[in-house]
Order: sequence, then structure tokens, then C-alpha cells
Amino acid sequence: MTKQQEEAKTSALEALPLRDDLRGQTPYGAPQLAVTHLLNTNENTHPVPQVVVDAIGDAVHQAASSLNRYPDREFTELRQRLATYLGHGLTEDNVWAANGSNEVLQQILQAFGGPGRKVLSFPPTYSMYPLLASGTNTEYIHGVRAEDFTLTPESAAQQVKETQPNIIILCSPNNPTGTALELEVVEAVYDAGSEFNAVVVVDEAYEEFALKGTKSALTLLEGRERLIISRTMSKAFALAGARVGYLAAAPQVTDALRLVRLPYHLSAITQAAANAALQHVDVLLGTVDQIKTQRDRIVDELRKMGLKPAVSDSNFVFFGWFEDAHAVWQGLLDRGVLIRDVGIPHHLRVTAGTEEETTAFLVALREVMGA
Ligand SMILES: *Cc1c(COP(=O)(O)O)cnc(C)c1O
Repeated sequence: MTKQQEEAKTSALEALPLRDDLRGQTPYGAPQLAVTHLLNTNENTHPVPQVVVDAIGDAVHQAASSLNRYPDREFTELRQRLATYLGHGLTEDNVWAANGSNEVLQQILQAFGGPGRKVLSFPPTYSMYPLLASGTNTEYIHGVRAEDFTLTPESAAQQVKETQPNIIILCSPNNPTGTALELEVVEAVYDAGSEFNAVVVVDEAYEEFALKGTKSALTLLEGRERLIISRTMSKAFALAGARVGYLAAAPQVTDALRLVRLPYHLSAITQAAANAALQHVDVLLGTVDQIKTQRDRIVDELRKMGLKPAVSDSNFVFFGWFEDAHAVWQGLLDRGVLIRDVGIPHHLRVTAGTEEETTAFLVALREVMGA
């Protein structure tokens, strides 16, 4: 698009009776560029295994014949399968799902946030949280972390007490830093929020990649009726394109979400694909160990280059320090490797892909740094 075309587009948009808070905004989204090595959105870069492709194909084929009817509004089979996958004694009554965990989070904000209410999270963290807050007219409160991006139970609890939010979102492992929170942080935040009935969400989009010994907040669910654990099939399950996110919580939380969900929000196609995929969990998660190996390799190699990668419990690595991180990002792009400039000065984030992709990234980075 030329500059003139872009300006015409903008003024046409501005002429509409758009909500005041949406004026001048740009849509969220990482660049989708035609580059050889796409290591910028933390997808599982391994292709979907053939047995899963076939299973999804058969299931969708079968579902197609009943597309004249609305799908199961309660997506009961999917909730059962997800509960079985999560374990911890959870049943379908504890599970809810939507089109990606972004929609799950949006529904949580619709049910528990809204005008006059507040949501707290701790940047640098997932950049969708403030956007979901804005979209639901919920005030977004920026919590603070230590300079090394860590968050202690004491600091987190203190900030909860001071700001009294209705919702707290903890991202663990955190995007973009990659590091998991200690469960003590979750406990401390939950306790601090109990005085004013706050809902605590732990976004565990990357939990399957966690380092040995890192515990899921699922272990804290029992007896905590305002705790919500959010998960997704977009990362470890290699199904980002299927758009399936889900959560585990007390049954009354899922009842609250039924009040805000659109009827039949999960299409019969989506349900069929997810149910078929969940019959092959072991195959789907078969690449997780390989990805973790590449992740650890990236951390080791970056250290050897004199860089400072953060501890990673996820399928990506956050690293610095660069005088001009954006120039390094551009240098990598010029060499066919797209990673993410998350807007944090002097730092970049790279997804751990296949062995070949990791090699391509490391070779290109050495070249850029040597230049
Ligand atoms: C990728 C990601 C998600 C997943 O979003 P989906 O809508 O499920 O694809 C959620 N939270 C975080 C922190 C992420 O990085």
C-alpha cells in the first residue's frame, strides 16, 4: 500500500462512529512475513504428525455431514478429553474451552472485569492482556517486576493489596521472558486477593515445556474457587491453526463463563478436530523433548557468545544485551530468520524450532554480531 492509500484508509476509518478508545489504535499481531525461518510467534514449528493429520481429516469429514445443525453447545466430549489430559482429578465440570486461550481470557474479563473494574498483571508479560482489558473496558494496571524481570511472592502480594484489582493475570512460564513463577507467588497473590474476592488467572500456555521440577498451578486448584489455570493447544500441541484454548477451574467459574460466551462458540469442525487430536496426545507431544533440547542449546550457545539469555521454561528464549536490538533483529531478517522484537529495549526473543532452524538462527546471529 502506498502512503496515500494508507492515509485514505485511515481517514475512512476515522469517519466511522468508532468507540473513542479505539480511535488511532492499530490491530495487534506479529508480522506474518514470507521468510524461510519463522521463529517469532512461539509456534511448534514441527509439522503436525501424519497420524494426527489423518485423524483430524476423518473426524472433520464426518462432522461435515451434520453441519446443517448447530454444534454441541456444551462441547462435552472435548471438555471430558481435556480433563483427562490435565489429570489432577479434574472432570468436565472443571473445564472450559474457546477459540484459543485468547478467547478464554476475553471471556474471563467479560465475566469478572468490565467498566469500573480492574485487572492487574506484571509486565513485561503477554501483550494481549492490556488489549483484552481495553476491549472489555476493564482498567489495566501495570504491576512491576524487579530489574531482572523476576517477581517475588512478597512484592506481588503487596501490589495486589495496594491496587485491589478484580482480576490478576499471572503468566507462567512468562511470555516474553520464558521463566516460570514459583507457586508461592500464585499462593501469595491468591491470598492477598481473597480480602476482596479477586479472581486469579495463571496463563500456562507454555507449561508443557517447563524445566524438570517446575510445578503447574493445577496442583493449587483444590480449595481455591477463584483460581483459574489457562492452557492452549496452540503451542506444545502444535495446533495453533485449530484455535483451541481451555481452562481448569471450579465448576462455578465455568458457569460464570456460560453467561458471556456466544452460543455455539466452538464450531463442530473445531470440536471434531480437537477431539481427534486429543486421541493422539503422546504423538502430538512427541516433539516437546526435541524442542526443549533446542531451547537449552540456544541458551548455552547464547551464553558462549557472551549474551544473557533468561532461564527458559518455554519453547522460546529471551535474551540481551544489545545496544541496538532492533538492528540485530533486522540483520537476522536479512539472513532469512524472523525472530521477535518484543519492544523491550536491548532484548530479543526467539522461538526454539527444529534443529535445522536453531542452527540457522545461531549461524545468522554469529554473523550479525561479527559484522
Ligand atoms: C501464545 C500464547 C497464548 C495462546 O494463545 P491462543 O489464543 O491459545 O493461540 C496465550 N498466552 C500466552 C502468554 C501466549 O504466549
